[in-house]
Amino acid sequence: MQTLPNHTVLIIGGGIAGLATAVRLIQIGIKPIVLEKRPFLGGRAYSFTDRDTGTEIDNGQHVFIGACDHFQQYISVIGASNQVRLEKRIGFPVLKHGKVGWLKARKLPGPLANLSALFGYKHVGFIGKFRILWALLSIKTARLGPTSTHDRFSFDDWLRDHAQTNETIQNFWNLIILPSLNDNIESVSAHTGIELFKVALLGTANNPAMGIPLFGLSTLVGENAKKFIEGHGGEIRTGINVQSLEITKGRISGIRTSKDQLIEGEAVVSAVPASAMTPLLPSGSRVKEDFFTPAESVRTAPIVAIHIWYDRPVMTDKFVATIDSPLQWVFNDTDLKSLNEKGQHIVISLSGAWKWQDKSKKQLREIFTEEMTNTFPAAKDANVEKFAVVKMLEATFQVAPNSRKQRLSQRTPLPGFYLAGDWTDTGWPSTMESAVRSGNLAADYIAEDIRR
Ligand SMILES: Cc1cc2nc3c(=O)[nH]c(=O)nc-3n(C[C@H](O)[C@H](O)[C@H](O)COP(=O)(O)OP(=O)(O)OC[C@H]3O[C@@H](n4cnc5c(N)ncnc54)[C@H](O)[C@@H]3O)c2cc1C
Repeated sequence: MQTLPNHTVLIIGGGIAGLATAVRLIQIGIKPIVLEKRPFLGGRAYSFTDRDTGTEIDNGQHVFIGACDHFQQYISVIGASNQVRLEKRIGFPVLKHGKVGWLKARKLPGPLANLSALFGYKHVGFIGKFRILWALLSIKTARLGPTSTHDRFSFDDWLRDHAQTNETIQNFWNLIILPSLNDNIESVSAHTGIELFKVALLGTANNPAMGIPLFGLSTLVGENAKKFIEGHGGEIRTGINVQSLEITKGRISGIRTSKDQLIEGEAVVSAVPASAMTPLLPSGSRVKEDFFTPAESVRTAPIVAIHIWYDRPVMTDKFVATIDSPLQWVFNDTDLKSLNEKGQHIVISLSGAWKWQDKSKKQLREIFTEEMTNTFPAAKDANVEKFAVVKMLEATFQVAPNSRKQRLSQRTPLPGFYLAGDWTDTGWPSTMESAVRSGNLAADYIAEDIRR
């Protein structure tokens, strides 16, 4: 490990981006201080004990795919590789009005494995499959350079211009877009949609394979990172609400907390969401406001998770996607976490959940327990032992058309001030992968600037 002389780097935010920044800085030889306003780490990826049921649950089902190499590297560095499991290739059942169609890759080399998943898929007809192949070919050849115009229109528009129909869009494209980008296909930019399919389906067989946390998120991304950071001389201070940046003679000199405490540092990384970053900038000086202003336009989208504990198993697969049903994606948490239970814990993950975010727990219970019995026959005879709802209203940032310019570089024009966070310019949508990439980039810029 190469070491750099003692420099104080402060990181605002103990979510995955802030923790990944700290881990990378430690690898570079800098011992950072992480300042987190809440009493726990993990940011938007955490677990907690539900008050009504007394059970530890995640704030939302988190999955990753094989292509998330920075996230997996981070998990490995913090010593948690055995707390996640990655499938070998893509394979999951899709339920539509009681009929099952599998998207399952065969053992074939390279992208052929992923394309083979399409051939056996029953919810798209023969001609539809050729349409999809045609669009995938156009995705492969699409150039997404800085001058490309793909960010100006929606992925839905782009697909329809490339021979796609309601059938292929609803039964294939949106099945992947909605949970991956947390929004409907009409609302996401063509740029992001194309990028997603280029990386996932047109890469190796491993790229779209699903990865699942086997432990609660607070343990996986919080406790393991804390152990690594503190074990290597870094510091984590929770309960510190950072109010503003301190700037002396045009460069960063530290931060000020909501209790008016000054903490000095030669470099500061903001690893908070865009909406929490802009208020940190001192209002009087309007520091390089042209650079930071686009971040004020970042918008967010909700995810609602429904947890149902049945007294007996109601589904046999690990996870199931649905079409034409409000269930979207259903996860068998008991099986995924290898819990030795008589009953079964089911997690229904609702992306782009504007329709559900204002519904009461009672309403959601009626709608979703009924929908479960319609979709999984075994649920008819099962009793619901516990029921919980977690609403995350600002779960992810939106990747709407024309939103790319809102994603700022990790190196800012304010000397000593850096950005991390899933929303910064990483090329990835709002994911744990993007959060880790942003942290790695911020740390590398700091090291580069210090060496200079
Ligand atoms: C329900 C749900 C499901 C999701 N599903 C997936 C999934 O399946 N796969 C996937 O890859 N991603 C998923 N995501 C997205 C993923 O969780 C985020 O992309 C990632 O956690 C963002 O990390 P971050 O560090 O950039 O931001 P955050 O997690 O938001 O971290 C920011 C941290 O900064 C702290 N903070 C804010 N302001 C201050 C301040 N002034 N002073 C000090 N601290 C401050 C916050 O408390 C927080 O801890 C999901 C998110 C949600 C909510």
